[in-house]
Amino acid sequence: MLGLMQQHSLLISNIIEFAAAYHADTEIISRRVEGDIHRTNYAACSRRAKQIANALDAWKTPQSARVATLAWNGYRHFELYYGVSGSGRVLHTVNPRLHPDQMAWIVNHAEDEIMCFDMTFLPLIKAIAPKCPTVKHYVAMCDEAALPADSGIPNLVSFEGWIAAHSSDYSWPQLDENQASSLCYTSGTTGNPKGVLYSHRSTLLHAMASAASDSIGVNGMDTVLPVVPMFHVNAWGLPYLMPMVGARIVFPGPALDGKSIYELFENEKVTFSAGVPTVWQMLIAHMDSNNLKLSTMRRTCIGGSACPPAMLDTFHDKYGVSVNHAWGMTEMSPLGTYGTLKSKHATLSWPEQRSVLLKQGRAVFGVDMRIVNADGIEQPRDGKAFGDLMVRGPWIVREYFKADGGKILDNDGYFPTGDVATLDADGYMQITDRSKDVIKSGGEWISSIDIENIALAHPAVAMAACIGVPHPKWDERPILCVVKKPNAETTAAEIIAFYDGKIAKWQAPDDVQFVDAIPLGATGKIQKNKLREQFKSYVLPTTAT
Ligand code: AMP
Repeated sequence: MLGLMQQHSLLISNIIEFAAAYHADTEIISRRVEGDIHRTNYAACSRRAKQIANALDAWKTPQSARVATLAWNGYRHFELYYGVSGSGRVLHTVNPRLHPDQMAWIVNHAEDEIMCFDMTFLPLIKAIAPKCPTVKHYVAMCDEAALPADSGIPNLVSFEGWIAAHSSDYSWPQLDENQASSLCYTSGTTGNPKGVLYSHRSTLLHAMASAASDSIGVNGMDTVLPVVPMFHVNAWGLPYLMPMVGARIVFPGPALDGKSIYELFENEKVTFSAGVPTVWQMLIAHMDSNNLKLSTMRRTCIGGSACPPAMLDTFHDKYGVSVNHAWGMTEMSPLGTYGTLKSKHATLSWPEQRSVLLKQGRAVFGVDMRIVNADGIEQPRDGKAFGDLMVRGPWIVREYFKADGGKILDNDGYFPTGDVATLDADGYMQITDRSKDVIKSGGEWISSIDIENIALAHPAVAMAACIGVPHPKWDERPILCVVKKPNAETTAAEIIAFYDGKIAKWQAPDDVQFVDAIPLGATGKIQKNKLREQFKSYVLPTTAT
């Protein structure tokens, strides 16, 4: 016997319709590329999303055509999220931090027909346009007056001019909920990037799961500033979650430095934010050096890379902000785990609670996780055994765009994340490393993340990255690359001594190399492949003697 409840497609257009109906005057504030602060609301954004849909119809843009964006977090980008996907086209968010050749490769692979870009990226667009034959129209996300006269870009229009000619009356199509809604490419540290093609259904289920109070859980009382970019995995789904719960939005635009973010936090009374550790490092440095406090900020979600313990402590002890650790990936829309406590933890001391919060969190409902050894055998959930982390669920990739990479799931439908992790009896997952970054020393595995986290607690260390280098006896030994804080002085011996008592002696790095910078990829993650390349002729002092 089937249930007798209504069958409705889960569609992205439902979200903006809901926000316009129930949170019409809730503010959406943006720091624009132009530098000024712009204010709008859900009702106005919904109207403009419909103008975009009409404008796409007028260009006869087919269903499922790819419409690319090369843009910061701002209201126009937000309106494209709804106008493009809501009308049945696929929003392809392109990461502007990629190398131009890689960007052109992605645009060609996606066969983008329209490219919408923030004016910051005009030079980039000029460079790649001749290499992107599929793009028929370019839309500069600016007013008509700001449109450059002689850009040399074919069929260039201004966003405002483009949509102004169209009505804000539009009936969103009743699409199949499994239709593709958006496309994001993986960072591609090895080989070419691969396209992850999200659907309306996967996007809505992901947003609903992240709305749970044990998950991101923002609500109508919150003012949310997504630092995490809308060009990378849909800003962790926040552009869908925020209107779903009617949260007030503050979009930071291109200014992600500590001072600019701090100003927005305080001026706009932000209560929740989400971003990668690198951004928080800049914010903390700004607040520390200017003796500033946070008056409205209550919670922050840190993910994308492991949250260094020292960062959680600073937010908690000095700024009264609670930190929740989240883990996920492009292939997972991205949310897999969220780090909140359970009732059994309520009576624990802060140091005990802290050690739970420093793990990557537990699975949000909808995500199944398991860890397996090299033979695919499931490992115990005891918080000690580690293995390759496998995931499955309705917002996790089944196959890459155009079947790149072939079959990617195991026989039970699990996707290999490439992360190595432990799972404990309470379900908390802890990443010990990326599988390719683990240092294999004498048959034992050393977590490069553990080594980096300890180094980051040293007062002279601004950034740290640990890689394995060849060793004749142990196969590999860890070395640590360190960027010192401005004006700070320290030595390799002092940093190595800093590990005493914190981890086993054999796990501590054999050497410390001071560098001016550590290579970061397009999503702010340390590019260990580049670092390994940089140190390929390096010889350990222990092996040289
Ligand atoms: P991306 O698909 O570019 O977002 O990268 C996903 C990868 O980032 C994951 O597979 C992890 O290796 C890493 N990652 C994401 N969140 C965390 C976290 N909270 N702690 C440690 N690593 C993380």
